Amino acid sequence: MSQTSRSRVAALPPEAFGRRLLVDCPACAGRAVIHVGDPGGRPVDFAARRLVCEDCGLTRDQPETPMGVVADPFMGRPPRLRAETRHGALVAWNEDHLDYLERYLAGALHEETPAPDGGVRNASIVSRLPAWAKAAKNRDEVLKAIARVRRERL
Ligand SMILES: [Zn+2]
Repeated sequence: MSQTSRSRVAALPPEAFGRRLLVDCPACAGRAVIHVGDPGGRPVDFAARRLVCEDCGLTRDQPETPMGVVADPFMGRPPRLRAETRHGALVAWNEDHLDYLERYLAGALHEETPAPDGGVRNASIVSRLPAWAKAAKNRDEVLKAIARVRRERL
């Protein structure tokens, strides 16, 4: 590891974390997990999914979304891990995604290592982050918001 605060994360496509999504339970507002099925070669947003609440046990199923229909990967629920800042909210899909964003944003110099196949850079998670989240002047505020989410929502 280097002695600088440079952070390096692997360039990953959104699908890397998209199989497990944390949302607020529609019944008790507790922590619910959406388990996403195998997309079978289609975009992961279209795969069948099951919501299971870890607090009250509520279960809801959503079948595979037909082609041509707009799919809400979160099944109409608010994403649970929303880091609110003055500039907007940063959403993490699950614990691993939150860790990934934190690791990336904590570095003074942000860097992605190229994907092995070189193909996902344009669509990588980091490339889709809003500019305000990556701005050095907002770093402390964004990291504080992430810490708050970890403390209160996980
Ligand atoms: Zn519940």
